[in-house]
Amino acid sequence: MKNILINDGLSQAGKNQLKTFGFNVIDEKISQNKLSEFINKNSICVILVRSATEIRKDIIDKCPTIKLIGRGGVGLDNIDVNYAKEKGIHVINTPSASSQSVAELVFAHLFGIARFTYHSNRTMPLEGDLNFKNLKKNYSNGIELRGKTIGIIGFGKIGQEVAKIAIAIGMKVLYYDLYNEEEKITIEFHNTETYSTNVVKSDFSNTLKNSDFITLHVPKQKEALINKKELETMKKGAIIINTSRGGIINETDLIESLNNRKTGYAGLDVYEDEPKPRIDILMNEYISLSPHIGASTQEAQDRIGLELANQINQLLNG
Ligand code: NAD
Repeated sequence: MKNILINDGLSQAGKNQLKTFGFNVIDEKISQNKLSEFINKNSICVILVRSATEIRKDIIDKCPTIKLIGRGGVGLDNIDVNYAKEKGIHVINTPSASSQSVAELVFAHLFGIARFTYHSNRTMPLEGDLNFKNLKKNYSNGIELRGKTIGIIGFGKIGQEVAKIAIAIGMKVLYYDLYNEEEKITIEFHNTETYSTNVVKSDFSNTLKNSDFITLHVPKQKEALINKKELETMKKGAIIINTSRGGIINETDLIESLNNRKTGYAGLDVYEDEPKPRIDILMNEYISLSPHIGASTQEAQDRIGLELANQINQLLNG
């Protein structure tokens, strides 16, 4: 029987599917320094990871039984992909399983900022009983999303899911992408009806200039895409959301722009310094925060598990 080590967890649906395909599933967290020893001792042929476990050249060299490395999720930064492939090892991931989840988190931040719920959830537990009237006044100047323009930077899988939600709630969409030239968006409703509409690509500067909200969906970049200059280009009071990668926004420039009230608010799921974001980011009252949970919904975890199991079955059982 082929042994699969699940080192960073996998949904029950994924584990069940692997068992149905006849694999022996070992669901244990083995620490990085004991990993090669465990793999060799148990003749592991598939190792499944998320972002925590690193599968580098040293492990690949030490563990000749490995035939497949699977990453639940998008990025493959924690795996030496090219080296593994040179050695004839399959490397797989699940690039689209969490797109809907990340897109919905963008709107969790946007709706929360638009009506200040991200902030009232900080103050109501402390002073909701003694200071209700003042809090009511402070949070009574919210805005609606309908009718506003959202600028989507990076129009790949997640960017397009964001566009669908935006269009469905009556927003105008502008997008900028280095390569993608997508023109049509099709929204699928719960009853299998669909609605298609055209979207028009803009350039980077115009997207920044003309959007009420900017949301970032590009891969990891060598340098920040949003710095002082780009924040200056955006509308006064604009809201910026980053659920892509830490470092895509220059955090020092963001804090300065928020504190001098050029940028209205930010919603951040990812940080330059993970897992220990800067304290002046965490404490800033104009930032809605989440701890890198974009992909982490029950539905996405199920899709990730099933997608991995099906790919493993195809590659190893033919
Ligand atoms: P994708 O590859 O489908 O789309 C990325 C798009 O960005 C592509 O269309 C590409 O052409 C475009 N692009 C690349 N560089 C660009 C640039 N400099 N300017 C403009 N466009 C550029 O990727 P995706 O699945 O949509 O994921 C987008 C991002 O979301 C990735 O950074 C990924 O790591 C991140 N992500 C985060 C979470 C989370 O938990 N918060 C979960 C999943 C993915």
